[in-house]
Amino acid sequence: MTLNPFPAHQYYNIPTSKHFLPSPPLNLTPPPSLPHNPKRWARMDSGPASSPPQKDKLVVIMGATGAGKSRLSIDLASRFPSCSFEVINSDKIQVYKGLDITTNKIPFPDRRGISHHLLGELDPLDGELSPADFRRLAGRAVYDIATRKRVPMLVGGSNSLIHALLVDRFEPGVNVFENGAELASSELRYDCCFLWVDVSLVVLAEYLLKRVDEMLESGMYEELAEFCATEDDEEVRTGLRKAIGVPEFSRFFKQFPPGRVHDQLRRGAAYNDAVKAIKDNTCQLAKKQIGKILRLKGSAKWDLQRLDATEAFRAVLSSDGRRWSEIWEEQVVEPSVKIVKQFLAEE
Ligand code: ATP
Repeated sequence: MTLNPFPAHQYYNIPTSKHFLPSPPLNLTPPPSLPHNPKRWARMDSGPASSPPQKDKLVVIMGATGAGKSRLSIDLASRFPSCSFEVINSDKIQVYKGLDITTNKIPFPDRRGISHHLLGELDPLDGELSPADFRRLAGRAVYDIATRKRVPMLVGGSNSLIHALLVDRFEPGVNVFENGAELASSELRYDCCFLWVDVSLVVLAEYLLKRVDEMLESGMYEELAEFCATEDDEEVRTGLRKAIGVPEFSRFFKQFPPGRVHDQLRRGAAYNDAVKAIKDNTCQLAKKQIGKILRLKGSAKWDLQRLDATEAFRAVLSSDGRRWSEIWEEQVVEPSVKIVKQFLAEE
């Protein structure tokens, strides 16, 4: 029995199309000429108004890849049925259709009826989503959700997208995470409650290695084989080209195309190299993401509330299935519920 608390893959052994029902469509039409709420509409993109109106509330779940953000979002949303949270994805690779196992999208049954936006919605052929595009699309989603008197929850590991959406004054083309770049802004256009799910890097890395093996067992190899077989040239499926797994395995499939006879020893060694590269790159990604989060917390002074999930992950790694869920509940979910309750009660 797998003790993975975030079993994103248990459903993938069955064809994915059956399980990825579309989330409610985002209203991507241009803004109405006479906005429903002119004050709120005015603040969507134009910065602070002269007499600041009340900002929309937004819960933001941050954390490195694999740290349990999706799991926490569903646990939290289920505890607040009356405020009806809706999730907006902020993982720059998961916004695209396709590669559901490789990009680790939360499977439909695990979403427990909670609406998800910008998750598997965009066509990778339309090109790479820029932070400015994300600000526009996710800004529209926040507006729509809040207009329906629900609460948006931003969930995903792409800190450049999170930053682009949240800051009051966004400058396209400026990478605030680059060394020597100007500091990320601390002035935000929403009333944000930041939850940061953190796992000590050593423990997280061990978990990530295991997760890659589980993803492969769940069909990641077959998914990538199909993807690479239909990939005509480098420009094709631009948006998904950078997903961890694609560059590593497209090299492998070029050398050893499926369906042909190969030297099994050489093929096996190349396969192991590809898997190792995926594991290394995933751990590197986690490390970079934690660095960016620390920068937002430290230099930009974003008020991130850190939830330490290290013990829960240790329990997972020691295959103690009963204990991990207790620890996760006690050390991550309960403190998050408290924080969010207080945040929602504040005027
Ligand atoms: P950057 O400044 O590098 O753009 P970022 O914070 O915007 O960073 P990240 O989410 O850290 O974006 O993603 C950086 C890279 O990590 C992606 O380009 C991709 O290679 C990989 N990556 C991120 N999320 C996923 C995912 N869900 N599946 C596969 N690869 C991913």
